[in-house]
Amino acid sequence: MPVKILNVSVMAVFCTLFTPAAFSERIEETRLSETVRVLASDEFEGRAPGTAGERKTVAYLIDQFKTLGQQPAGENGSWTQAVPLIHTKLANTFTANFSIADNPWHLKQGVDVELSSISTLEHNQINDAPVIFVGFGASAPERNWDDYGDIDLTGKVAVFLVNDPDFAAAPSEPVAGLFGNKRMTYYGRWTYKFEEAARRGAVAAIVIHEDKAAGYGWQVASSSPGENYAIAHTDADQKTLQLQGWLHNDAAARLFRAAGLNLDEQRRLSRLPEFEAVELKGIKFNADLHVNVERIQSQNVLAQIAGSSQQDEVIMVSSHWDAYGIGEPDKQGRTVRPGANDDALGTAGVLELARVLKAEPTPARSIVFAVWTAEESGLLGSAAYAQNPVFPLAKTAANFTLDILQTAGLARDVILVGEGQSELEADLVNAAARQGRSLTPESLPENGLFFRADHFSMARKGVPVLLLMGIAGGADLIDGGRKAGEQWISDYINHCYHQTCDAWSADLDLSGAAQDIELFQMIIQDLSNSARWPEWRDGSEFKAIRDMSKSSRSKNDHN
Ligand SMILES: [Zn+2]
Repeated sequence: MPVKILNVSVMAVFCTLFTPAAFSERIEETRLSETVRVLASDEFEGRAPGTAGERKTVAYLIDQFKTLGQQPAGENGSWTQAVPLIHTKLANTFTANFSIADNPWHLKQGVDVELSSISTLEHNQINDAPVIFVGFGASAPERNWDDYGDIDLTGKVAVFLVNDPDFAAAPSEPVAGLFGNKRMTYYGRWTYKFEEAARRGAVAAIVIHEDKAAGYGWQVASSSPGENYAIAHTDADQKTLQLQGWLHNDAAARLFRAAGLNLDEQRRLSRLPEFEAVELKGIKFNADLHVNVERIQSQNVLAQIAGSSQQDEVIMVSSHWDAYGIGEPDKQGRTVRPGANDDALGTAGVLELARVLKAEPTPARSIVFAVWTAEESGLLGSAAYAQNPVFPLAKTAANFTLDILQTAGLARDVILVGEGQSELEADLVNAAARQGRSLTPESLPENGLFFRADHFSMARKGVPVLLLMGIAGGADLIDGGRKAGEQWISDYINHCYHQTCDAWSADLDLSGAAQDIELFQMIIQDLSNSARWPEWRDGSEFKAIRDMSKSSRSKNDHN
């Protein structure tokens, strides 16, 4: 249901009565443009982690924060936080097979499977591992749902269905609506499935790919075969899968047939509340892996405005500095993938917020500006912070993330990602109303964008979040309406996203982006001078973890 707070007919009147909040400084398009121009220039080489482009980017960001009068907020009083990463690539000599009644079926990488490793082991083997079909693999006590039963995954291979148990359910099925209907919950994400398998001691986890339920085709799932990135864990106890990846739907059908099962029938059974994981009889999995493990030292950049009276209470503003580096030449011979929109523009927004918020009287709470590394490799910079936060997450009131802002001009609405998750939605409604705008929920919640940007690293640790992402749904543009907003997204996704074309130009229309960034300015200005702790709504999969730290958040009103 769209949250329509104003209809168009009253909006014109509303706009004349209300001007945007009185700020000392406003978000300036020329400043946004200048930051994007610098970060997206060839000199920065597409800002890949661990490259000369990273060194230039980090130096530039620190310099900007210093110029804006910010204080360092990284490790040991510095401006950065170290993020040790590994980049893994399976050697061509790697083999994997399903043994069916002792006959090996050799799996073709990119055709039958897309497998990769996030382990630091350079050679490892999996021998005769039992294969367990775990359905959707959800263990969701708050929904009274458990796909695992008594099964022990230690030393085994877990095979999952993609998305949530209710994604393909008919309205009459008992599971319908239990996992947010079409909106994907965290249980639907492959990251959750891999983590759950690792937690339960599995050696490998494989998700059966389906175009519709995954939200993207097999070409996307298998676009960098055998390659992966991960945080380099120093903790030896950290449970890690030896192998993870996707199984093509046709290969999955064949595998299930070999075990005397029908994949479609198993899909149906997996939607039943009484479903429990089953072993694929007569099937074993084998793999012999040589992995090239490259170690990369990367960095998050962190700055702050220290609060005046509630300094240990933190509001966090984020973007990611990394982009896709250098790749194959395009038709014009360009090799740098400059990530102008994704996410130099979000980073420019963070710098602008640092500037305009600094121009106000010192807030009661601290405001931390975090520019993450390695978002494009799997939200790794933000995940590294969430695992090892400089400021305790229990007292981090909210995270505000900017990742890809639209460059299509002013809009009548703002697109809401993750409808119904937290009380911050009401803050966004109020801020939008002050600009004479309304909220429109994202158009494809089943694609799970809520889990695909850095704010999510904070959300899964319980910090309430708000994400502005220009590709989450077509905005209702002043010039051209919703149709033009949707056209901008399809042009961007089809031609520029992660490509050489995502470049700076003096002609970029940054008016809509500035308007969106101002929403965060209003919300943060308010929240940083408040004693309020925004909450997750009932039914959110992140409420339970936040509630565990409730006692550490003071309830006395500081004002
Ligand atoms: Zn991004």
